[in-house]
Amino acid sequence: MIVCGAGVMGASVAYFLARRGVGVTVVERSGVACAASGKSGGFLALDWCDGSPLGPLARKSFALHAELAKQLGTDYGYRRMDTFMMSARERGAPTGGHRVPAPHWLDGAGVVTAALGTTETTAQVTPARFTAALLDAAHARGTKLRIGLVEGIARRDGAVGGVMLNGGETLDADAVVLAMGPWTGRAVGRLPLPSVYGLKGYSVTLAGADVPAHALFVDYRTADGRAFEPEIFPRPDGEVYVCGMADPAPLPDSPDGVEVSEVSCATLARAAGRVSSTLAAARITRRQACYRPVTDDGLPLIGSVPGVAGAYVATGHGPWGILNAPATGLALAELITEGAASLVDLRPFDPARLPAARGG
Ligand SMILES: Cc1cc2nc3c(=O)[nH]c(=O)nc-3n(C[C@H](O)[C@H](O)[C@H](O)COP(=O)(O)OP(=O)(O)OC[C@H]3O[C@@H](n4cnc5c(N)ncnc54)[C@H](O)[C@@H]3O)c2cc1C
Repeated sequence: MIVCGAGVMGASVAYFLARRGVGVTVVERSGVACAASGKSGGFLALDWCDGSPLGPLARKSFALHAELAKQLGTDYGYRRMDTFMMSARERGAPTGGHRVPAPHWLDGAGVVTAALGTTETTAQVTPARFTAALLDAAHARGTKLRIGLVEGIARRDGAVGGVMLNGGETLDADAVVLAMGPWTGRAVGRLPLPSVYGLKGYSVTLAGADVPAHALFVDYRTADGRAFEPEIFPRPDGEVYVCGMADPAPLPDSPDGVEVSEVSCATLARAAGRVSSTLAAARITRRQACYRPVTDDGLPLIGSVPGVAGAYVATGHGPWGILNAPATGLALAELITEGAASLVDLRPFDPARLPAARGG
């Protein structure tokens, strides 16, 4: 069995397959968690997907995250958080005071407008370390990691025959899981898969701010009137992660080619500094950008590739890929090994619900 891509989705699928005794090779072009799975917020919410087909997947995943934090035996920054909504401006301040009791460290020009979650409903992981912990645990059960660029899926009598790598080598396999994030469609040639796009966002990490486990979602207005919603997640190791700023820039060929805008990163850091004097004094340690994988209907693709026996896909999780990786991995491992998923109903995520991007 080959899993293409060592982001959080490939790592989770590999881990749950390995737990079922399946021999897996993960093929990754650059490095483990080198793309969105290493640069995202890692915020988790129990019930924020309720009311959408993602609700049951998210609830199962939230519970699995708590189990995995115990089972994997590695500290990757999992903890529960309280979560607040704020309103802030680059210049001036919103009128009125805090609408709900505000943590003392939010001493800047922002106003806390609502409590969005508690330690019962919201949590976090550090995504790169979570992804690595899943792959390490899979490795301990025999999973291999191979650095290589997937250039196509070999087919034999209509079924999967293996994975074609650059340089002309083919790795034989009778089942392949495609988990290459926004690049999934580019790497699979004429396989009948719906379109997967990449949506770019920026983030910075700050050091030197010792603040509590409070996640912040900020309704923010820049000095020139632009509105955006920075998200601020203090991590247990003292790092504070800040993300936001969507950018329509097209997806580059490789994660190594993702460009970072200094201006966007500076805007994000300034926004964090507006809500807390501790964050204003913190120094920027990383400026980064990544692309979340999205589909035409906003729901992930989890399941069999229509008409090609042995081909499976797990991608398109948009803003909730870190949250939803555990139930996606477990459900897909069930589908592959038992023919059906019992954990969650995968029908809303069936790749066959959307037209193929190109003829198969
Ligand atoms: C700024 C930002 C903040 C986010 N915050 C959160 C959050 O707080 N909570 C949450 O749940 N989600 C969050 N997300 C979403 C989450 O990060 C993504 O949904 C998730 O990481 C996608 O994982 P993936 O494994 O599908 O894709 P990726 O992480 O993109 O991994 C795909 C992997 O495939 C590899 N690959 C690509 N092409 C090939 C090829 N041809 N051959 C071999 N390997 C290949 C890549 O190198 C990469 O390692 C955020 C996303 C962004 C952009």
